Amino acid sequence: MKNKEAYLKVAFQKVIPLFYENGFPIDEIAENIGITCTDIRKSWDGYCQQTISDDYYPEEKYQIVISNSVDNGFNAIEVLIHEVCHSIQYHLYQGNVKPHGKEFKAIAEAVGLTGRMTQTYADTDLKIKIREWEKDIGEYPHQHSLGETLEKWEIILTFGWIYLLTMLVNNFS
Ligand SMILES: [Zn+2]
Repeated sequence: MKNKEAYLKVAFQKVIPLFYENGFPIDEIAENIGITCTDIRKSWDGYCQQTISDDYYPEEKYQIVISNSVDNGFNAIEVLIHEVCHSIQYHLYQGNVKPHGKEFKAIAEAVGLTGRMTQTYADTDLKIKIREWEKDIGEYPHQHSLGETLEKWEIILTFGWIYLLTMLVNNFS
């Protein structure tokens, strides 16, 4: 898998049945759910942004964002499922309910998430499923965050200069 987004798009296809098997109308919105990975400034693992297009026939759109700091497939899929719960919640209730209230809890627990609703994790059954999917999809791609990449270049440039200076000094001595 070439990058985290490609990985999560494959994972999303495996996540979809979790929702419709539990009676949530994921098929009504699945096509409008986008997934991206980025550096999130806050200490969040992910979030889901909902918008309604201002077309003649307005359409609900969802953008799921997963933090680059999540660096293994298992946790990334857990976060993905949490964010899909948010999109289903929005589809069912729009902005009329609390983000992690009882409506969210009902969706999250039905698909196998447990723990504090602001920071859910997979229950035993869901863990087994995710482990299976991981075997199928393969390794979660390691993607350097922008900060890490810049740091790496700084090191390369610093050593480059030291090397050049040493060469110059050697030539003149
Ligand atoms: Zn949440």
